[in-house]
Amino acid sequence: MAVPKSKTSKSRRNMRRSHHAVKNGPYNECPNCGELKRPHHVCAHCGHYDNREVVNPEAA
Ligand SMILES: [Zn+2]
Repeated sequence: MAVPKSKTSKSRRNMRRSHHAVKNGPYNECPNCGELKRPHHVCAHCGHYDNREVVNPEAA
């Protein structure tokens, strides 16, 4: 089994992780209204999911 020759220092580890931050978070544009919505969630703005209205945004 391959084994690391020396310990990765906190500095090295943190330098490697400097590119890991997720920018803007998990949000996509709603294809119906263009508002930002979370993937796999019903759009909070227009109540659409999978190109059809599943929730009435006024009633809900
Ligand atoms: Zn929408």
